[in-house]
Amino acid sequence: MSDDDRGYTFDQARWADDERYVSLLSEAAPGRAEPGDALPDDLTRDELALPDPAEPTVVRHYTRLSALNYGVDTGPYPLGSCTMKYNPAFLEDVAALPQAAVHPDRPDESVQGVLEVQHRLQRALARIGGMDAVTLQPPAGAAGEFTGIEVTKAYHRANGEGETRSEVLVPSSAHGTNFATAAMAGYEVVELPPGDDGRVDIDALAAAVGPETAALMLTNPNTVGLFERDVVEAADLVHDAGGLLYYDGANLNALLGRARPGDMGFDVMHYNVHKTFATPHGGGGPGAGPVGVVSDLAEFLPTPHVHETDDGYERYEPERSVGKVHGFTGNWLVLLKAYAYVARLGDEGLRDTSATAVLNANYLAEQIGLDVPYGPFHHEFAATAGDRDAADLARAMLDHGVHPPTTKWPEFVHEAMLTEPTEAESRRDLDALAAAFDAAAAADDETVADAPERTAARRIDQVGAAREPRLSWQALDDEDAAGD
Ligand SMILES: *Cc1c(COP(=O)(O)O)cnc(C)c1O
Repeated sequence: MSDDDRGYTFDQARWADDERYVSLLSEAAPGRAEPGDALPDDLTRDELALPDPAEPTVVRHYTRLSALNYGVDTGPYPLGSCTMKYNPAFLEDVAALPQAAVHPDRPDESVQGVLEVQHRLQRALARIGGMDAVTLQPPAGAAGEFTGIEVTKAYHRANGEGETRSEVLVPSSAHGTNFATAAMAGYEVVELPPGDDGRVDIDALAAAVGPETAALMLTNPNTVGLFERDVVEAADLVHDAGGLLYYDGANLNALLGRARPGDMGFDVMHYNVHKTFATPHGGGGPGAGPVGVVSDLAEFLPTPHVHETDDGYERYEPERSVGKVHGFTGNWLVLLKAYAYVARLGDEGLRDTSATAVLNANYLAEQIGLDVPYGPFHHEFAATAGDRDAADLARAMLDHGVHPPTTKWPEFVHEAMLTEPTEAESRRDLDALAAAFDAAAAADDETVADAPERTAARRIDQVGAAREPRLSWQALDDEDAAGD
């Protein structure tokens, strides 16, 4: 298809002709070799040992590798906190529509459809979270956190409190990214110990909160699936002290269509579209972490933001924007999938999603023999491996054809096996997962210590892999090959 068929022309020469850009490039690489120059001797070799296999060997190699790979399309993937759920295939068709493949630099009037979808998604997410405005720009949950905390900082600065509000409060059960976000944004991180019931200890919070508090970052339900029952009281404490409430939206699956962070008192939140809505994640692929805010914070959102005018949809710069955190309006095709997913489910489907996510977690926890020390939980639970090593039990589960849960985190649960089956699993798959848990727990110490025995890669030598990493292709000598 030519550019003309799409009704626009993309001037590829534009960047190349921009002298400023060209000079920037050469400044970035001083002493760069000119095309046609011979490579320096120290960068060349006379011989290179590259494999030279026949085509069938290559095809069989990669086909075999693809069959060894385990993913959500193969079976349950119950990594707690990660929400590894099945992504409906129709979303790939939506993202592959030629109309979606537009260059982000095109003028607004020529991409009205794209901007309308972005605007609709902003509105849908705002409604789901109980927020007033949403930016789609951040490329992941962690990037959303950073954006949200930067917005928080801009708000305090605008109120003349940029210097005094120097602390961000984070419960110890929080995801590591919360601590990293607050530190990266230049805040002092104050860790709140969990109460006896695994939830935020309101007395500890009351003691920690004060005029230095910029924000409290909270995940609700928290990272062991426990609903923070005192969230309204926590919000009042923080607001009375002039701080803001940040909602880590990674566990929104538990609340979808039923409860909204905005109604609980949160001022700013991120959405992990690759966890709550649908897009494959893991493996470093693109994600998206839109950020929602209450109206007082909207003028600080990243630029560009999409809004509706009398003439249609337009990208603009919010008045006191924190700037850019990613290119254009973010990872557009990921956002398009999120929009298609939300639109397909509708309000009722979203409510079903959270109900099934919570039901599946509770059903699975009932089926397994391991102890689950905290409850009642929502969409995920932390079982304890007791006097066994949680990572060893997880390896033993691999021999039963399933992916094991997250292990040894959060740390306040002894030998935690943090399990999130997600709403995507059938009862049959949940039963298979429970059987794998129980078989691993019933195995004797020797079996567990040797596991996994039936997987393509056996017990990985993690220390060896770190000390002697093989980062490029190498021909194995016969001895190595026999060992593998
Ligand atoms: C996954 C997760 C994050 C980080 O999100 P990414 O999209 O992976 O960057 C933050 N908090 C919690 C609780 C999470 O589970």
